[in-house]
Amino acid sequence: MLLPWNIEALNPPFGDPGFFLHHSYTGQALIFDLGDLHQLPARKILQASHIFISHGHIDHLIGFDQLLRVTLNRPRHLHIYGPPGIIEMIGHKLQGYNWNLTSHYELLITVHAVFEKHCDQTTFACCKKFYPEPTITTPRNDATILANENFTITAATLDHGTPVLAFSLNESLQINFRPEELKRRNWKPGPWLSRLRRLLLVPDPAEPDIEIDGTRYSVKEVAAAIAIIKPGSKIAYITDIGFTEANLQKLLPLVANANLLLCEAAFLNSAAEKAQASNHLTAAQAGEIAEKAQVRRLKLFHFSPRHHDLENEFYRQAKEHFSGPIS
Ligand SMILES: [Zn+2]
Ligand SMILES: [Zn+2]
Repeated sequence: MLLPWNIEALNPPFGDPGFFLHHSYTGQALIFDLGDLHQLPARKILQASHIFISHGHIDHLIGFDQLLRVTLNRPRHLHIYGPPGIIEMIGHKLQGYNWNLTSHYELLITVHAVFEKHCDQTTFACCKKFYPEPTITTPRNDATILANENFTITAATLDHGTPVLAFSLNESLQINFRPEELKRRNWKPGPWLSRLRRLLLVPDPAEPDIEIDGTRYSVKEVAAAIAIIKPGSKIAYITDIGFTEANLQKLLPLVANANLLLCEAAFLNSAAEKAQASNHLTAAQAGEIAEKAQVRRLKLFHFSPRHHDLENEFYRQAKEHFSGPIS
C-alpha cells in the first residue's frame, strides 16, 4: 500500500531520534519526538501542528527550543502530547526565558499529558508570558488520544525505567468513487461527494439521506453503488523500551498489522546486556517485535554511537527475525 504520509527521519540513525510526517493530500504535518531539529528546514517545522513526545529524556526533547524559536512570532496553536510530567517539563522550559517583549505574539501551546485513564491539558499563551492556564482533565476511555476526520492517534504507556508512550497513527478509511458508475447514473460530481465521504467516515444518524441533482437517496444506497471503501494505513512508532513481557503485551495490539513500524534499535547483540540494563531494544528484538506484530515494513532508528562503524549489522541482525523489508 502506498502510504499517504511522507516520512522523514529528523537525523541519520546514529543521531537524535524523531520523525517528521507530512500528509500528501491535506498538507498536515506531525512530529514524533523532538530530537535535535537542526536538519529539518524551518518551513517544515512550521507545518507541524501536533507533536508526540515518547518521554522526557533530553535526546527526545532538546528540539523543543528550536521549534519554539521558529514558531514564536506566528499565530499558531501547537499541540504537544507526552507522558505524565510533560506539562511541567514544557512549562519549566518556557519559564527559562524572559518574555518582556512578546506580549503581542499570538502563539499558543497546549500540552496534553497522557495518563492510563485520563488526559490533562494545559495551555501556555505567549501573550501571557507562557504562564500556564488552569489544567483541564478529561477521562480516557480507550487508547485514542487524538481523532479527526483523516486519522486517529492511539497510544500505549510502556516502561523505560520511566513511563514512555508508543504511538500508532491510524488513517481513516480510504474512500474512492467509481467514475464509470457516476457516469452511468448521470450523477454529476459536486460538493455532495465530499459530504458523502464525510458521512461515510463519521456516520451521522441525523443525516441518513443525501441529495443528488434534486433527488434524495439513502447514504447506504449511494455508497453501495459508487464507493470503494478500503481500510486506511497504519504507522506505529516505538522507542526506548525494555524488551519485557509487560511491554510486549501492551505494544503488540497497538502495532499489529501496521504498514510501517518505526522502531528503535539502540544496540547490537554484542551489547544485549547494556540494552537490558538501560531499557532499550536490540536490533534483533526490534525484528522480533515486527515479526510478532505482522507489520509489513520496518524502519530502524536510534542506533547507539558505540556501534558507529557497524550500521549494516543493525539491519542484518533485525533481518534474522523479520521476514519483511527493513531500512
Ligand atoms: Zn530514553
Ligand atoms: Zn532515547
